[in-house]
Amino acid sequence: MEFRKDKFEDFYEVGEEIGSGQFAVVKKCKHLKTNDEFAAKIIKKKRAMASRLGVKMEDIKKEIVILQEMDHENVIRIYEVFENKTHVILVLELVSGGELFDFIAEKERLSEEEASAFVKQILLGIKHMHSKRIAHLDLKPENVMLLNKNSQNIKLIDFGLSRVIKQGEFHRDMIGTPEFVAPEVINYDPLSLATDMWSIGIITYILLSGCSPFSGKDQQQTYEKICQLTYDFTSKYFENTSDLAKEFIGMLLKRDPLSRASVEECLNHAWIQPSEKKQSENRRKSVINIGNLKTFCAKKRWRQSVQIVTLCNRLSKSANLRRTANLLHDSHAANGLENPIDGVQQTTSDTMETNSD
Ligand code: ATP
Repeated sequence: MEFRKDKFEDFYEVGEEIGSGQFAVVKKCKHLKTNDEFAAKIIKKKRAMASRLGVKMEDIKKEIVILQEMDHENVIRIYEVFENKTHVILVLELVSGGELFDFIAEKERLSEEEASAFVKQILLGIKHMHSKRIAHLDLKPENVMLLNKNSQNIKLIDFGLSRVIKQGEFHRDMIGTPEFVAPEVINYDPLSLATDMWSIGIITYILLSGCSPFSGKDQQQTYEKICQLTYDFTSKYFENTSDLAKEFIGMLLKRDPLSRASVEECLNHAWIQPSEKKQSENRRKSVINIGNLKTFCAKKRWRQSVQIVTLCNRLSKSANLRRTANLLHDSHAANGLENPIDGVQQTTSDTMETNSD
């Protein structure tokens, strides 16, 4: 895909911010000629090797190549790419229904039949990716969105960590939310398509109960619980859950990636595709723990706002550091000395650039 060097604003009207990630801001935009609406994911480029800010061009390109490969109704589409000195802008299909979990948490009741229809759409999107040997590797509630509130059409987003899987080749640094990572990520073992299947197990577990299977009192305990596979279906949270749903989750939360169910096996499981009348009836009668899911979503929003505050604090600390560095630099220069903190200036100048962008 060609990276257009034109000025983005000459072709699109840029609207409100609709989301943000570590180094990306997502804004609504409208094509000036057609009036069609899109989402512009504006990614900050990493300018210097030592900089902790921004994304390496190589990684931005990987995300774009993977997005281009995708052609499925449950996966976000990419239309074009713009590039300037500081940013790369991806023009994406606009998803306006918000996160799936938030949508469900607004409801009064959701049967397992309805819940499994959502999980089926996640599976279909992942089946498309896996058929091209691409693993998403960052499946979590935040990355499962709805096209709009009426259609109930699921869209998987955020392919920043996605990779083409070549047998036993790829390891990932331990990044992301601890409670969602698979045992192989913690153990620094090779990642595979099965890593996504673990995440689908976690998503389904939370969707049905509103609680996270391995959440510990701190990160260390969470990792221990994941590696020891310490989880259960506490009756308090799974009071109205069918055995079929528990069986489905059990096929996915397996320590050994090779023994986890594949995406096809999941699609054929009776919780997704009942073969007997009794199974269908059970699914219809069983309900998800909506009260606890509401609490889970409220906590998630709180965690997201804490992350934003932490990032702001870090940026303002860096800005102070930069001011101190400049003062020291001036005072050393005045005394005919060399600047003692060149390295510090390198990173802080990058921070300043983000602030002014
Ligand atoms: P992270 O740092 O979490 O990996 P990121 O920088 O890769 O994130 P995304 O997760 O792709 O960025 O996008 C950030 C947020 O922007 C999403 O959580 C979502 O709320 C919103 N978003 C992303 N893509 C779209 C889209 N196509 N339509 C609407 N909102 C979107």
